Amino acid sequence: MDGFDGRCVTDCEQCPDLVASRSQIVNGIGPDDADLVFVGEAPGANEDEKGEPFVGRSGSVLDDALGDAGVDRSAVRITNCVRCRPPENRDPTTDELANCRGYLEAEIETVDPSLVVTLGKVPSEHLLDRSVAITNEAGDVVDCRLGDRSQRVLLSMHPAATLYDASQRDAFEETIASAVALAGLGDGDSDDGDGQSRLGEF
Ligand code: URA
Repeated sequence: MDGFDGRCVTDCEQCPDLVASRSQIVNGIGPDDADLVFVGEAPGANEDEKGEPFVGRSGSVLDDALGDAGVDRSAVRITNCVRCRPPENRDPTTDELANCRGYLEAEIETVDPSLVVTLGKVPSEHLLDRSVAITNEAGDVVDCRLGDRSQRVLLSMHPAATLYDASQRDAFEETIASAVALAGLGDGDSDDGDGQSRLGEF
């Protein structure tokens, strides 16, 4: 794919609304060989400004939950289904999700994580290719087809859900803690020498 190095998109003009609304393309961040990859929906205003996924209030919720589980944000990879900010923070359209799908599949194939976590309904439905009742299904682990590979996926609510409803916070933190355990990260996990950052001990 032109303008794409296997993980990062440098140039793409497939979605006219997104080209008009973005100030930059927001690629995934984190180790190129991360064991754990989080997939959100699309960049918001903060992400569009900083060029990094989940750097606003939702990002703080995610970072705190990771920290509580003994893992630093820098040890995981964080990316989105769609890499450009939709106008007025609307959901990405089916066409926009489809246009960006190849980048996401290639990124996950290159990184080859042991676990992908979908943050919210949009990425869950996009990866599973079915409707998802995220409040009921959060915490479930499923195998899903991503391009040529079968990928283990843990469904999670979006961190922003905890900002609208604080009673969701414990459930979100539990899901992130189980993601960390399933991926073999966090406290009590010894470095297996595969080059991954293990910052959980501190
Ligand atoms: N919400 C998302 O889904 N992705 C981001 O990068 C930020 C907020």
